[in-house]
Parts: sequence; C-alpha cells; structure tokens
Amino acid sequence: MSELSVESKASPIEGLGLFATHPFLVGQKIAPYIGPTTDKITTPKSSAPSPTYWLEIKPGLWLDGSSAQNPARHANHSCAPNAELVYDDTTHEAWLIAIRDIATGNEITFDYGFSIAEGLFHSCQCKDAACTGRIVAAPLRPALRRHLRFSRSRD
Ligand SMILES: [Zn+2]
Repeated sequence: MSELSVESKASPIEGLGLFATHPFLVGQKIAPYIGPTTDKITTPKSSAPSPTYWLEIKPGLWLDGSSAQNPARHANHSCAPNAELVYDDTTHEAWLIAIRDIATGNEITFDYGFSIAEGLFHSCQCKDAACTGRIVAAPLRPALRRHLRFSRSRD
C-alpha cells in the first residue's frame, strides 16, 4: 500500500478523527502510528488534560503519536473500537490494524489503553452503549465502573 487509505476530518466523537477512504478487512494494516518512543516516561499524573497522548505500545514502552508526521494521529479512542494498535518488535513499527471489517467512510478508532488514573482526566464521548465515559483500557473498565459508582458526586 503506497497511498494512505485514511483521512483526517471532523469527528462526531471528538475534534478531528481518522476515517477510512478505502474498505479494510479484519487483520489488514490501516496506517502506521509514528512517533518518538521512550521507556523513561512515568504515568502522567497532571490534572491538565493534554492533547499529547503518550500511548503504552508494549509493556514499558511509550509512543508519542501527536507528531504531524504521524498519519494516524487523529484516530480517536472508542470503547467499541474497530482497530487496535500493534507494535512489531522486529521492525519497531506500530500500526493500526483492523479488528472488524471497516467500510469506506467509517471512523477508525482504537483502545488507547489508558490506566484508570489517566482515564479520570480524559473523558470519552464515543457514545457506545458500553461507554464508561472515560478513556480507559478495556480490561480496567469493570473496576472503573465500580470506582465511579462509589465516588459519584455529580455528572
Ligand atoms: Zn467510550
């Protein structure tokens, strides 16, 4: 694939999103996710939500996908994503891969895999029936729901 099969445009989820300009089948590569990586980051504890998302692409390795060189940088998080971010240890490349068939024009989303601490500072507006309202990794969502149930003061 020499030409990108994605484009960035206004998203119903948030800001700009990444959209397919070409259909994808399950397992197909969608776009590379490019940016500097580091193993030195500490989990962000700042209360200021940042548009710069450091994503943990494998245990202990973080990637900053916010660079303009990253064609997939506008891909939004969803609680019911149609893609996943896969890091290849031999090529040292991260790619968005389709985990469902994606039709032309569909928004491409993946699970940012945030911790509960990070998720508390990043709200999710994916509108899926199972949305927790927070950007949190799928395996942590039951714990997040319990946390929100017992700490809900307003919203
Ligand atoms: Zn959601």
